[in-house]
Amino acid sequence: CSEDEKTEDYLFKIVLIGDSAVGKSNLLARFARNEFYPNSKSTIGVEFQTQKMDINGKEVKAQIWDTAGQERFRAVTSAYYRGAVGALLVYDISRRQTFDSIGRWLNELHTHSDMNVVTILIGNKSDLKDAREVTTAEGKDLAEAQGLFFMETSALDSSNVAAAFQTVVKEIYNILS
Ligand code: GDP
Ligand code: MG
Repeated sequence: CSEDEKTEDYLFKIVLIGDSAVGKSNLLARFARNEFYPNSKSTIGVEFQTQKMDINGKEVKAQIWDTAGQERFRAVTSAYYRGAVGALLVYDISRRQTFDSIGRWLNELHTHSDMNVVTILIGNKSDLKDAREVTTAEGKDLAEAQGLFFMETSALDSSNVAAAFQTVVKEIYNILS
């Protein structure tokens, strides 16, 4: 068929990383299925979920990978990162320890994938206002220092969840197209 008739297929692999229980599986559940699990165990994770998205009028498929609990053992396998062009690096704004782990996750990401992987730092559980241990400014500063996008999200009340995934996919699209 001619160039005009050809439909271009974009499939971007995106990985979710960050400490256990920061809300990775629920961010994916909220984004892909509009679901939330108040008492989820690490077993709810799927291997990956493919989500169609519209970017500048083009259909783009994001293949979003979840760790399914591997991170409890402090590392995920290199196969998880292979071919990833985007990453959501997640901490929990109500647990400082998960923010302190970000450097380690960044190292692991850069060890196992391309340096140019489009990465957004995510402070999840923004609904937990009274339990906040990491300020928005701290998240922003770290993201700026590391050259990452940044957003605070809540998988519980949905705030910024779609925006976070869209930011990554849009940037990948802009770079690759
Ligand atoms: P994962 O281990 O990073 O995949 O984390 P999960 O998605 O399994 O979530 C861990 C726990 O945090 C579960 O009890 C979730 O219900 C809860 N959780 C996830 N996201 C949020 C959120 O945005 N706000 C609140 N309040 N709880 C959340
Ligand atoms: Mg999980």
